[in-house]
Amino acid sequence: MIETKDADVIVLGAGLAGSLLAVYLGRRGLKVKVFERRPDPRKAGYAGGRSINLALSHRGIWGLSGVGLEGAVLKHALPMRGRIMHPVKGDLAFQPYSADPSECINSISRGALNIALLDAAERTPGVTVEFGREAWAYPSTEGLSANDWPSRPIDKTSAGNLTVGRLRAPVYIATDGAYSFTRHHCTARDRVDYSQSYLGHGYKELHIPSAADLGLGSGHDGWALDPQALHIWPRGGAMMIALPNPDRTFTCTLFWPWEGPHSFANLKSDADVGAFFERHYPDVPPLMPTLAADFAKNPTSSLVTIRCWPWVWSEQGSSVALLGDAAHAIVPFYGQGMNAAFEDVRVLDDCIGRRSGLTPEALDEYQRLRKPNADAIADMALDNFVEMRDKVGSPAFLYKKRLEQLVHTLAPDRFTPQYNLVSFSTVPYAEAQRRGRELDHLLERLIPVIPADKAASMGEAAWKARVAALLHELAPR
Ligand SMILES: Cc1cc2nc3c(=O)[nH]c(=O)nc-3n(C[C@H](O)[C@H](O)[C@H](O)COP(=O)(O)OP(=O)(O)OC[C@H]3O[C@@H](n4cnc5c(N)ncnc54)[C@H](O)[C@@H]3O)c2cc1C
Repeated sequence: MIETKDADVIVLGAGLAGSLLAVYLGRRGLKVKVFERRPDPRKAGYAGGRSINLALSHRGIWGLSGVGLEGAVLKHALPMRGRIMHPVKGDLAFQPYSADPSECINSISRGALNIALLDAAERTPGVTVEFGREAWAYPSTEGLSANDWPSRPIDKTSAGNLTVGRLRAPVYIATDGAYSFTRHHCTARDRVDYSQSYLGHGYKELHIPSAADLGLGSGHDGWALDPQALHIWPRGGAMMIALPNPDRTFTCTLFWPWEGPHSFANLKSDADVGAFFERHYPDVPPLMPTLAADFAKNPTSSLVTIRCWPWVWSEQGSSVALLGDAAHAIVPFYGQGMNAAFEDVRVLDDCIGRRSGLTPEALDEYQRLRKPNADAIADMALDNFVEMRDKVGSPAFLYKKRLEQLVHTLAPDRFTPQYNLVSFSTVPYAEAQRRGRELDHLLERLIPVIPADKAASMGEAAWKARVAALLHELAPR
């Protein structure tokens, strides 16, 4: 048992998960100290080093709403009601995310969101946030502890004089992201499962200015593309997406292989970039006047899936726990990493309520509830990459999605598309995965009986009646 303590709980990392977590813990009456290695983004400007904007959906909003923050956050967001596919040739195709037009995902700026959460954390009694403090928690022979030191400047010649402080708290929660130092230290222990798996694809961000800046007149109410959708350029094995920003620009992200014909390595000069986009993304160059310069200047980053178990170590009266990307970094193709992290926070808070405090039992319940769900969304995110880059453009896929929505409309209590369960509900991810597979199996049986060309020749009403009859036959109640 620790004798003196700096706080009831130390949170390591004031990114998206850490700042929301601090609000929840402060509201529980705990004394919370948060250490963030970056400078305060409200003074120094936001330096995320990650995607500029994110898709916030139902689970994330659920996480925010537990402490009444959903309104303050959603006022910065832009709703996206479906995907617009951009083929190499031919017309754009819109695919709604849901038959219910009120169900949408929301484009939100990472910087604005982090700042709103930090403001909320600092307004919460009992919470203090210190910036420019790099720290990690680790289990040592003396029990669990946290080290910290001034992160900058680190002058090697005076290293002997640097203070290596020791922070004392009964609980440390590491929300220090996908490359968590805390997890790194903990996975060196006995009987810890750990895996990291990189995609053969990286990502790079590009920029579409506003319609006015492009000289396109009013465009789509000032945007160069429809701002009520997530835009996708699926290219089989590679893709680009674009999400709208409130300043009427779009942030685009290339998800390309590192090597190969359609890859980052393949484009060596500005001329290569221009010619490649003219050929494979012909509607893009007129919208990106700084394409070649941005391509050369913007970093190309990697995409990783990290799995680990356990997430909690409790001994000698102290606990270290991992939360958010520190526990389960996933690839971004379901737009769920942050949403899952916010859900972690609210589930942990529920456990604290049920177990009457931030006890080892509450932390253990949290990890056991979340781990199967984190594994399920990690798998679904990998599967969704294949769907987005290879399938969304094909007529067969569009037909399957139409059929899926019809089955859902005919039997909403029994069949809901996996996308809707993941993005528009808090049904546990593992259950969404299982129910998604069940529905997929049913569709694979329906399609041979009533394929797309047959459906087209039947007319809408006859098609719906035939699907209803088949549903009755193949999946009786
Ligand atoms: C390209 C891309 C697109 C994405 N799109 C989406 C999306 O659309 N929707 C979605 O839900 N998710 C998306 N994600 C995932 C999302 O970004 C993460 O899941 C989310 O940021 C996780 O939050 P976190 O707080 O756990 O980690 P982070 O946001 O990474 O925060 C970690 C914080 O810890 C700090 N830190 C690190 N080490 C230390 C230390 N030793 N001491 C103190 N502080 C430290 C860091 O400075 C940082 O502030 C995307 C990710 C990528 C890469």
